[in-house]
Amino acid sequence: MKFSLVAETLKIMESTTKRLELTQYLVDLFKKTPPEIISSVVYLLQGKLRPDHEGVELGVAEKIAIRAISKSAGIPAKKIEHAYHEGGDLGQAAAKILEQKTQTTFMTEDITVERVYDTLYKIAELKGSRSQDMKLKYISSLLNDASPIEAGFILKIITNSLRLGIADYTIMDSLAIAFTGSKENRSILEQAYNVSSDLGKVAAAVAKDGIDAIKNFQVSVFSPIRPMLAERVKSPQEAHEKMGAEFAAEYKLDGERVQIHMREEKIILYSRSLENITSYYPDVVEKITKSLNAREAILEAEAVAINDDTGEFLAFQELMHRRRKYNIAKAVSQYPITINFFDVMFVDGKSCLDLSYKERRNILEKIVKEDEFAKLMPMTLVKSDNEVEDVLENAINAGCEGLMLKQLDASYRAGARGSNWLKLKREYRNELGDSLDLVVIGAFFGRGRRTGRYGALLLGTYDDETDTYPSICKVGTGFTDENLDQFYQILSDKITLKKDPRINSGLEADVWFEPEVVIEIVASEITLSPIHKTAMDMIRKGSGLALRFPKFTGKIRFEKTPENATMDEEIISLYNGQKRAVQEEKQNYI
Ligand code: AMP
Repeated sequence: MKFSLVAETLKIMESTTKRLELTQYLVDLFKKTPPEIISSVVYLLQGKLRPDHEGVELGVAEKIAIRAISKSAGIPAKKIEHAYHEGGDLGQAAAKILEQKTQTTFMTEDITVERVYDTLYKIAELKGSRSQDMKLKYISSLLNDASPIEAGFILKIITNSLRLGIADYTIMDSLAIAFTGSKENRSILEQAYNVSSDLGKVAAAVAKDGIDAIKNFQVSVFSPIRPMLAERVKSPQEAHEKMGAEFAAEYKLDGERVQIHMREEKIILYSRSLENITSYYPDVVEKITKSLNAREAILEAEAVAINDDTGEFLAFQELMHRRRKYNIAKAVSQYPITINFFDVMFVDGKSCLDLSYKERRNILEKIVKEDEFAKLMPMTLVKSDNEVEDVLENAINAGCEGLMLKQLDASYRAGARGSNWLKLKREYRNELGDSLDLVVIGAFFGRGRRTGRYGALLLGTYDDETDTYPSICKVGTGFTDENLDQFYQILSDKITLKKDPRINSGLEADVWFEPEVVIEIVASEITLSPIHKTAMDMIRKGSGLALRFPKFTGKIRFEKTPENATMDEEIISLYNGQKRAVQEEKQNYI
């Protein structure tokens, strides 16, 4: 097929933004395209050579493109650069320049879509030191035989500046009209696209074998599935209205969504936007098959950075340290993670997409063997607003962003945002105005860099009514190396064989101390807690209060006795103040 057909379509498409017109131009083009090359045409229209997840990148620098035009047109590169910077579009500049040139020369042969696509593919595959020269050679040879309009579009494609403004949906509408005669069939194409994430493949199937071929599109390992997305709700009440009587409340961890595809020992990880991100997670590749009871599977999980010493979840930014080209092994050991599975889409030859959430979760629980590295996303079945609130408090305490609420009988709707999944986030993050002085009551041994010292300390407030030290948080951040040494020294004198009867905590520390040392802490928020005992039962029966994101300020309050530490009443009044602030914030918002 002549490439001029594609180039002419692209040219008229540039003259409109109306979706109906764009659709019609594409229908006309698709009807003229032989089925064997329709996938190439679809990729070229999207400005790519293969679906994103295959990672085939053209990667031609503008400089090389300019040199190629210069070579074909016999015009100095400086002149082309000038024309380019004047108009801001290299493709157009090239078309203009070549236009002048073709008036004096003859084109040797028609170029075909096949030739353009194959040459661009060869360019994308070039690597190594001589690749720039080879790229230049390939591009100039195409430009030599291309008409000015064709050359313009080739250049736009290779420099990634083809901006037609056609969404995947428009291409699917056009395919449906061209090959099935009805736009209504778009939804069937969409389903095939959602499970394959490959529009070229969908186009080829419908062009060759019609709509029935599309209906049989199957989920398959190593073809990423477009992820299901959630709607946002503001309150448990709103969630209840949307979800009905009973639903699942999962922790919403603040990490990176990973779609894990595995067959025997082979593992590929895709990001939420379906890029191949396997290279950032060598630890997953190494460890995950041991944790999965399946020969082949497609699963979804949240990869979350953790504090190696305390096991606490860390924020998303920590994970992003892994996003580098070199020294990934070092980043992997510095920023350890856990993999928290929350869905399964395929297992041992069978798609799970049409199963209900409940059924998928059952399968997930059967195939994931939990260990230090691989976990199941914590999930609770909830029926009332109060239950949602409780799970939310626990989630926040554990360092989560909030909750994901999931309809029990809903299937996995690939590529769709809907009310079968809702996200409930804790929007307010009131920084506590004051620092707190807390008593060191216990400690946990360090691991990794902190081996041989304490990795985290257990802290308490002072309750003068009962003369006890209820725990309020475990803190592992804010310590310098010197601080860690100093604490190890100071505290080793305070170790007690048995927990002091005045200490009250739901956590089991590795060592317990005489409550004597007071340190200064800042935190972002006070939350209800089932584990910590400060102000137990005072705000809610069965709950104490805890600090979220506590951090050591660097100050050991040698001048304070433990009885001078922050008292439970102060924490209660900070908690109430925080709630009032949130209510005011909400009112302002409404
Ligand atoms: P958002 O990015 O705010 O739209 O929230 C959706 C994201 O939350 C997903 O893409 C996941 O990365 C993440 N997430 C965390 N925990 C869960 C969970 N339990 N279920 C689904 N997604 C989760």
